[in-house]
Amino acid sequence: MPVIELKDITKTYKIGQQQVQALRGVSLTIERGEMVAMMGPSGSGKSTLMNILGCLDRPSTGTFLLDGVPVQSLGDDALAGIRNRKLGFVFQSYNLLPRASALANVELPMVYGGGKRKRDKAMKALERMGLKDRVSHRPSELSGGEQQRVAIARALANDPSVILADEPTGNLDSKTSWEILALFQELHRQEGITILIVTHEIDIAACAQRLVRLRDGKIVGEERIAPRLASEALLQMRGASQ
Ligand code: ADP
Repeated sequence: MPVIELKDITKTYKIGQQQVQALRGVSLTIERGEMVAMMGPSGSGKSTLMNILGCLDRPSTGTFLLDGVPVQSLGDDALAGIRNRKLGFVFQSYNLLPRASALANVELPMVYGGGKRKRDKAMKALERMGLKDRVSHRPSELSGGEQQRVAIARALANDPSVILADEPTGNLDSKTSWEILALFQELHRQEGITILIVTHEIDIAACAQRLVRLRDGKIVGEERIAPRLASEALLQMRGASQ
């Protein structure tokens, strides 16, 4: 069973008398364990599609199965529940709670388990992201790359079916971007995590296994690619600066 199955998704926004067709019949299947990149110019419908995939908004027409569950027919509470349990989010601006430690940021959204189990799991996720000695730091005491790694640890906290990453490297310099991409690729390769990355940078998209192009609310191209290894891009960068 695919993790994500979209069929003929449309989304129409109404502003006064005017209608904007943000999505015009999008069909997309993402299999378990895939790493997919989505690209498209501004206004092509990327955010609208991410909001639907993220169970934050509903399509106007069409069907969306998430792990086989028909999401479009769920009520608000059920939708919020499925969002917490099945999806992990990583955003361009990290979206961490500013007054909470890295550990608390990872622990707070955890759905299952009590105090100690939660803490252990959050610690493990932070260690996995190389942040063992940063767990008590607040976001303002961390670099951009470290904050994004906390956000990835948070996204992993509920063992999601899929991680949705919306321009995850948009605020980061090149070296840090490759480091974050290398982490995504590691999670994907070692743990079989399904990842969908929205980006406008072809270099970033080139690290996925499949590239989906969106334009004017439609998918206009889909291709399988041999993913570029972010760890190699990092090595090349280091070599070039020596
Ligand atoms: P992208 O993320 O690729 O820039 P969007 O999904 O934000 O594209 O937008 C797709 C189209 O839908 C655009 O024409 C945009 O103006 C319109 N749109 C997006 N959100 C809304 C909204 N809440 N109300 C009205 N129109 C919207």
